Amino acid sequence: MSVDDKDIIEVEDTTDEYEDICYICRRPESVAGSMIKIPGNICICKDCMQKTIDTMQNSGFSYDDLLGMNTNINKVVGGSTADETEEAAEGDGETQDEEKAKPKSPGISMINLADLQSLMPPQRAKIKKKKKDKAKPLIDIKDIPKPHVIKEKLDEYVVGQEQAKKIMSVAVYNHYKRVATDTMDEIEIEKSNMLMIGPTGCGKTYLVKTLAGLLNVPLAIADATSLTEAGYIGDDIESVLSKLLAAADNDVDKAEQGIVFIDEIDKIAKKRNTNQRDVSGESVQQGMLKLLEGSEVEVPVGANSKNAMVPLTTINTRNILFICGGAFPELDEIIKERLNKQSSIGFKADLKDKYDEEENILSKVTVEDIRKFGMIPEFIGRLPVICTLEGLTEEMLVKILKEPKNAILKQYTKLLALDEVKLEFDDEALEAIAKRAKEKKMGARALRAIIEEFMLDIMYEIPKDDNIGRVTITKDYIENTGGPVIVMRGMES
Ligand code: ADP
Repeated sequence: MSVDDKDIIEVEDTTDEYEDICYICRRPESVAGSMIKIPGNICICKDCMQKTIDTMQNSGFSYDDLLGMNTNINKVVGGSTADETEEAAEGDGETQDEEKAKPKSPGISMINLADLQSLMPPQRAKIKKKKKDKAKPLIDIKDIPKPHVIKEKLDEYVVGQEQAKKIMSVAVYNHYKRVATDTMDEIEIEKSNMLMIGPTGCGKTYLVKTLAGLLNVPLAIADATSLTEAGYIGDDIESVLSKLLAAADNDVDKAEQGIVFIDEIDKIAKKRNTNQRDVSGESVQQGMLKLLEGSEVEVPVGANSKNAMVPLTTINTRNILFICGGAFPELDEIIKERLNKQSSIGFKADLKDKYDEEENILSKVTVEDIRKFGMIPEFIGRLPVICTLEGLTEEMLVKILKEPKNAILKQYTKLLALDEVKLEFDDEALEAIAKRAKEKKMGARALRAIIEEFMLDIMYEIPKDDNIGRVTITKDYIENTGGPVIVMRGMES
C-alpha cells in the first residue's frame, strides 16, 4: 500500500518564505519532498508515513483501523469532551462498555497528537532565500573601513598589542572585501580565518569584541572546552553557529557574514598519552574543519543542540570569519626548545640557553610549533593568519586603567561626578594597582577586581557627606597603610 492514495490530504504550495517540516524526522519540505498534512496542522513526510504504516501493518494493525484512528484517538485518550469525562468519572457503565467495544491495537498506545501541538515548536522552519546570488550583498565594498582606520579605532580601546592590531585590521579588511565582491573567478581569495595566541587577560576577546562592534557585524563567542564530538555530552560543534544566528536576530543572511570567536582553542589540542577516544580534543578539531573552510551546516534555531523539538535552518559558513584564541601554555617551551636547538648547531652555534630569558618568545611561533603542541595540521592550515599578543607589562596595565575610551577609572570618575565629587588617582597609586594585578598573573582581568575591592568603601562613604568635593586615591590607601585624601567643597585649590 502506498501513502499517497486514499483520503489523506496533500499540502498545497506554501508561501515563499516558509516551508513545512516533518513532525517525525524534522526534515524540511525542500529535503524530504512534499508533506502529508494530517488534522491538527501536523505535517509528515512520505517516508515517515510509509514507515509508520509498515510498522503498524507488521504489528497486525489494519489500514481501516488507521483511517478510523483519528476519530478513535480523540475518544480514547486526550480528545474526550468535557461531558464524556464527567460521565467517565461517575463510573457510567455504558461508557465502559463502549471502551471495550473499540478496536484494540496491539502494543500501540494512542496519543492525541493535537494535544502535543501546543508543546511543539512551530511546524514551519524559516528558509533562506534561495536566489541568493542575485541578492545585493549586505556589505558594500565602499563601506568597509580601510586597515589604518580599523587600527585607529582599535587603538582607542585596546592598549599595546600593536602587531596583533595591525594583522587583524588587514585580515578583517581583506575578509570583508572578499565577502563584498563575492567574485569567484579564477583568482579565488581565500578565507582569512585567524588564530590568536596570547596569555590570559591580554585582550584577545576584547579585540574581537571591539572589532565586531566597529564593523557592526554579529559576533558569537564560544568556548572550545564545552565542545565535544556530536553525540557526546557537551555542545555540538554546530552550536557556535546557533549562537551566531541568535546574535544576528535569527537573520540567516546577516549571520553568514558574522564573526565567530572560539576561545580556549588550546584546550582541544590532541591529548597526549591517551588510549581513550578523544571526544573533546582531536575529534573536535576534525569536526571543525568543514566549518572553518566553508560548508552548508544545518543549525538548530534557538537552541544549542539538534533534537526533534527544534526547527533547523541551513547556514553557509563560507563568509563567516572564524577567529580562534588561546593561551597555549607551554607553547613557549616548545618554541624555546626549537630555537635553542637551531642556535646550538653548526657554525653559528650560540649559547645553549640563549632564548631562555627572552621576553615575548611567543612572537617567534611557527606552524610546526603549534602542531607539536597538539593541533592537527589540517586545522592549523585553515587558520592562515596567526597573530600573537604580548603579556601585559605594568606600564601597559597603568595605561589600561586610564587611557581607553571606557577605561575603568573614567567610569568611576563619571560615577562620582554625578555626586559632584572629583575623583583623582595619584600616579603612584596606579603603579601599585598595576603591580598587584601583575602578581595575580591574570592580565588586565585582575585590575577590575582590585579596583572594585578598594573603591567599595569610597563609593559607600563619600555620598554620605555632601560637603566632600574631592577624593584622591593614594599609594598608601592601595597598600593599606593609609587612607585617601579627602578635600571639602570650597577648599579645593
Ligand atoms: P583574554 O585575552 O583572556 O581573552 P580579555 O580580552 O577577555 O582576555 O580581557 C579581559 C578584560 O581586560 C577586557 O574586558 C578588557 O577590559 C581588559 N583588557 C585586556 N587587555 C586589554 C588591552 N590590551 N587594552 C585594554 N583593555 C584590555
